[in-house]
Amino acid sequence: METVMENHVANVPDTSGATLDNLTVLTGMHREEVRAWMQQRGLPAFRGDQVFSWIHRGRDFDEMTNLPLSMRETLKSSAVAQPVKISDSFHSRVDDTVKFLYEMRDGNCVEGVLMHYHHGYSLCISTQVGCNMGCAFCASTLEGCVRSLSAGEMLGEVLCANRYLEEKGEKVHNLVLMGAGEPLDNYDEVMRFLRLLREKGGIELSLRSVSLSTCGLVDRIRRLADEDLPVTLSLSLHAPNDEVRRKIMPIAKRWSMKEALDACRYYIEKTGRRVIVEYALIDGVNASVEQAEELAGKLRNMQVHVNLIPLNEVKERQLKGVSERQVRAFLERLEACHISATRRREMGDDIAGACGQLRRSVILSRGAEAGTSA
Ligand code: SAH
Repeated sequence: METVMENHVANVPDTSGATLDNLTVLTGMHREEVRAWMQQRGLPAFRGDQVFSWIHRGRDFDEMTNLPLSMRETLKSSAVAQPVKISDSFHSRVDDTVKFLYEMRDGNCVEGVLMHYHHGYSLCISTQVGCNMGCAFCASTLEGCVRSLSAGEMLGEVLCANRYLEEKGEKVHNLVLMGAGEPLDNYDEVMRFLRLLREKGGIELSLRSVSLSTCGLVDRIRRLADEDLPVTLSLSLHAPNDEVRRKIMPIAKRWSMKEALDACRYYIEKTGRRVIVEYALIDGVNASVEQAEELAGKLRNMQVHVNLIPLNEVKERQLKGVSERQVRAFLERLEACHISATRRREMGDDIAGACGQLRRSVILSRGAEAGTSA
């Protein structure tokens, strides 16, 4: 498992001027960068503002109706406005949840889930194609990390969802970086993406409505705390001690639980925001009431909220979920120890599946079509 961690910084495509098929991807650029790019091509800078604004409304060059036709043609031959498209979507029969299969220009796919809560729409996006973190319960990591997504591709996931919601007169209100991938393993692109979200003239999503979930890259959590970006941090803890955590999360061999929690304390101190602790209950591994008590001891006096997630069983993994009674008992014990906790509401249970399962089923079916055994 050590090798997994050694090369945990996956290949990140160059972005601000990222090119694909010799085309410049404008989606990951800040407004000033789009203006400068236009000027370098002899086009007026104010056209850059128009292009920036259209891009953030999810429009492609053909739809940029206030640009002269000839300019649209020129732009099409040298740049990309929308690097992501929804290639398939799956609608829940039990609630308003939709799962998107996003496709990028190189044919790679990632997943996103759009959930409808009473306070608005929440979108869960992926930050990498696959993941290198190797958590024992997660489907996203089964094939490792193919590549990291660029800032423009992550923004593309949001833009596609906004376009999907446009006909309902709605848009994404909350964003969670909790799909496939480890966001802090794609640090620079994720930071660029977060800054793009709040840029004036773009979609202007407040970073207070954004959550970032990490398996616990301690050095990066500390760096994030110093960025002055008011995102909510979630730590995937999933264990009450190092011994259990090391069995299910390779990252725990790199950093102890104390180091991870100390980094969270630093995050809370720097940002004034509470941290969410994610805890997936796995039968016979981390779900006993004694373990709830041990966990409470570790979190005492910390400004945290525990999110209990009943394990989503992944067929390739041997791990088993827990009964409703076990969830309740664990929750009650945490509360008795004065730890704020809730059970994560399950949405779109019939379509969502565990993290990474949709992309995996697509890969497997493509493999089957190609006559390869998966
Ligand atoms: N790499 C990041 C974000 C992606 S996973 C992280 O580790 O936090 C998003 C959340 O789903 C994490 O808390 C992860 O541990 C959890 N998760 C992954 N697979 C799961 C499964 N099969 N059942 C329940 N939760 C799972």
